[in-house]
Amino acid sequence: MRGPLIIVVRRRHLLLALLALLAGVVLGALPLVARVRPAAAPVADAISGRIVAIDAGHGGPDPGAIGVSGAREKDITLAIAIKLEQLLRRAAVYTLMTRTGDHDLVQGEHAAHRQREDLQRRAALVNRSGAHVFVSLHANSFPSPVWSGAQTFYLGGEETSRRLAEAIQQSLVAKLGPNRRQARPADLRILRDVEAPAALVEVGFLSNPEEERRLQDPEYQWRVAEAIADGIFAFLAAQYAGEPTSRGRPGGGRGGL
Ligand SMILES: [Zn+2]
Repeated sequence: MRGPLIIVVRRRHLLLALLALLAGVVLGALPLVARVRPAAAPVADAISGRIVAIDAGHGGPDPGAIGVSGAREKDITLAIAIKLEQLLRRAAVYTLMTRTGDHDLVQGEHAAHRQREDLQRRAALVNRSGAHVFVSLHANSFPSPVWSGAQTFYLGGEETSRRLAEAIQQSLVAKLGPNRRQARPADLRILRDVEAPAALVEVGFLSNPEEERRLQDPEYQWRVAEAIADGIFAFLAAQYAGEPTSRGRPGGGRGGL
């Protein structure tokens, strides 16, 4: 009878020791959490919980630009969009993708003006989401092969969109190497139709053989996605500095913030 009793007592001791250890770990970690939070909280609050809509340009029957060796704009925009989505989600940002596969938004239907209808549907989807930021991804093409470099566009006259585009362009230039291109205004339908602060990123020139090769390289695609994500974070941090996460509160549209 003694044997089992001793085992029970020892087990109880072991359990108490484990509980004490666990309590020590938890209590020991608390001051660390308390020290870290005040510095990180304002930026995290400005970013986490926001909604970012990502538009992979073209898709389905519309390949977009075709590179000198055959790369299709629609494939490159989607590959970067999927990576961007992952990076944003890691920062607790909600994401909306206008497409996640090789199709447009008019699939299976007849539309007299398919491209226009496609763009209108993308904008309507984004506007319904209450997005705080909209970013449309495209790749450039030009008759001459000499041009290269990513460039970001915004709708002229939209100050909030300008700040978003400049933040993204600054990050692209810093992370992707020499590029003297600046964020520029452009009168583009998708930028006109979307209500959130909106930027259109031309990730590079498919008409430049070297840039076409890089844009097909997943490693480079990650770098482009990281640059865009960092630009969005910088914009959100500045835009919503000191403002708690807007749970259930849409972005308020462009220009009004
Ligand atoms: Zn395009």
